[in-house]
Order: sequence, then C-alpha cells, then structure tokens
Amino acid sequence: MSTVVPEWRCRWCRSDRATVVLDLGAQPAADLFPEPEDPSPDPVHPLRMVMCDRCRLAQLEHDPTGPEEPRGVEPAALVAQARSGVADLLAAGLLHPGAWVGEMRSPHGGSWLEHLPEIVPDAVLLDGPGTVPGIAADLVIDSLGLMHEPDQRAAWDLRVDALAPDGVLALHVHPLSVIVRDGMWNALRHGHFAYYSLTVLVEAARAVGLVPVGLWRYPLYGGTRLVALAREGSRPALAGAESAAGLVAAELVVEAAAGTTEPSSVQELQRQVARSASELRHWLDVRTGSVVAYGAASRAVALFALAGVTADDVLAVVDASPAKQGRAMPGGPGPRVPVLGPDLFAEVRPDRVLLLVPDLLDEVRSAHPEVEAFGGRWVVAEPELVEVEPLSRDGGRLR
Ligand SMILES: [Zn+2]
Repeated sequence: MSTVVPEWRCRWCRSDRATVVLDLGAQPAADLFPEPEDPSPDPVHPLRMVMCDRCRLAQLEHDPTGPEEPRGVEPAALVAQARSGVADLLAAGLLHPGAWVGEMRSPHGGSWLEHLPEIVPDAVLLDGPGTVPGIAADLVIDSLGLMHEPDQRAAWDLRVDALAPDGVLALHVHPLSVIVRDGMWNALRHGHFAYYSLTVLVEAARAVGLVPVGLWRYPLYGGTRLVALAREGSRPALAGAESAAGLVAAELVVEAAAGTTEPSSVQELQRQVARSASELRHWLDVRTGSVVAYGAASRAVALFALAGVTADDVLAVVDASPAKQGRAMPGGPGPRVPVLGPDLFAEVRPDRVLLLVPDLLDEVRSAHPEVEAFGGRWVVAEPELVEVEPLSRDGGRLR
C-alpha cells in the first residue's frame, strides 16, 4: 500500500514514506472565486491526504496553491465556541489578571483573545516566529491554527518556545477520528496541512516535552477538542486537572477501536466522497423547482467541482460576505454559478436552498426566515443530503 512520494517528507517526523488515504484529484484552489464571465479555465491542483507510515500523522501531501484562506463573515458558531473555550480556561484557573496570554493566529477566525480584554488586558497575538521575542507565556491559545502550518515540527517548536516553564498550551483541534466518523471528506483542503488524531497529537506533544493536563469537548464541526498541554514535571495550577489523564485515555481507546491511525480506516473518506458527489448530482438532476445554494465557503469548492455543478443546476450561491458577492464558484465546464447577496432569497423565492456549510443551519435559518416563509426548504448538502423539516407554526421543529 505504501508509496514513495517523490520529494515528499512528513511534515512532522520527516519520514519519506506515506500512504494515500484520500484523493480528490485535481481541484481549484479553495480561495479561488473567479469573475463570473472570466473565460479562462480555473487552474487546478492535486488535492491528496496521505498518512505518514511512521508517525501516522494524516496530512496534505502537497500544496502548490499557497492560499490565503479567505476571511468570510465570522459565523456565530465560532464566536460561541470562542466564548465557551475562554469560559473553560477561566474556570480551570488558566486565565487571570496579570497572566501572560498569547494566541496563535488562525485563518479560521474566531479569535479567542477578543473575548479576553476585561480578564487579561495584556494578551498578545503571536503571529509567527519572532513576533514577540522572549515572551514566556503562562498560556498560549491555538484554536484551529496548528493545522494551517506547513511545517508541523517548526510549528510545535514555535508554540513550545513561547511558553513559560510552567506555561500551558491550549490546542483546539478538530480530530481526525471525528472527521472520519462523520465522513467529512471536505475537511481536506489546500491550506489545511495536518489532520491530527488525538493519538498522534499526544505523541507529538510528548516528543516536544509536553503532556496533556486538561481536555474539553465541544459540538463544533461534529466534535472538537481543547487539549491543555504542559511541560512534563511542571505543575500548572489547573483546576480539575486530575481528571485529564482519564479523559485523554478514554479518547485514545475510542480512536484505537476505530482504527484512526490505520490508513485503511481513514480511506473510508474516499468512499464518502463518491457518495456525496453522486448523491448531489442525482438530487440536482431529478429536481424540478429552483435551487439556490448558501455559503460560498472553501469547503464547497471541491463538492461543486466533483458533482459538476453549474448555473444550470444552481441559480446562485448566496453569501453574506461582500468580498465574495459578484464573484463566482470555480468549477468545471458549464456556466459558472454566481455568488450573490442574501437579497436574492426574496427576489427568487427558491424552492430549495442547498446549505453548503451545515454547521450554520440554525443561524442562517433564523437570519433568513423568508426562505421558509415563501415555501422554500433548507437542504443540508453534505456529508449526506438531508432536507430539513420546516418549522411548525408555533416555531418549534416538527422533528
Ligand atoms: Zn511522520
């Protein structure tokens, strides 16, 4: 099964052997939203996830795109996540006035620091090597930042170097086990370099001298984890830390049972890709009413390309971000799907709204009651196509 990938080196352990676990073929860069009338074909790049044969880190094989992930409108779900995470760190005693707190930048937005000024006025943004020379942070927060680092070894070193001797690194991650369990194949994107199982994360932490001292779980993206890590032997004042070892051990048992570090288990994502694309293609082919999509997100680019979605299938993608309005989704042959503002809902009164960012269902639904008021229905696009039951008259859900 192993393939020697020319000039490839593991982003963590530098091994040169890996196994392909998910291959999406040639895809447009996730940050490419072309002009609607641009006649030139969209440049495409190989998009493959491999698992290192030695350390079992799942990772982006190559990234020729060098994308700056576009900053869309910050979803309410990420703001809520940031608040929950900060509340948990506060309760654990890791945030207090006078603490030195730093945050690693993440293109996913949802900065946790923005929720800190009243608690920790001196918090700083750590934006790469040398940004804050000599900082010895009591707490370094990294929410979905590590995955965006091409060189994982350097990324871990940077984080550890920023820590005071008894400092804590709070890593918020979307574990590979959850991605595989939920069939979330489009977590694979250019610019997303590392896909950690907690098993591999704990191993990597150990290799840089850190051990888990805290663990919290959240419902975001089907299940994220906040792992607090501290230097082995240090004793960070962490309320409730005695349960951390048991929580982490339980997670590792679940991952072992699911085979999260086995390429064959992760390859299940490949089968889900085929299911998602053919299901969407079929649904579009048999539909008779008008279809508008919501969310010109980078995660939707591959789905549209794989299912061959054109403006003949979907009138437009509605997006709240003014930067994307007036552009178009990249894609294969056929008329491009334009990206337009939310006014379109009232103008077109679509029969179905295909939601390309499933996490946003509750917030976009309450932001756009006109969709259902005009008789339209929301349809979650992936990993499985699901039509959302309309709200009952008293505002409660029917199911
Ligand atoms: Zn490796």
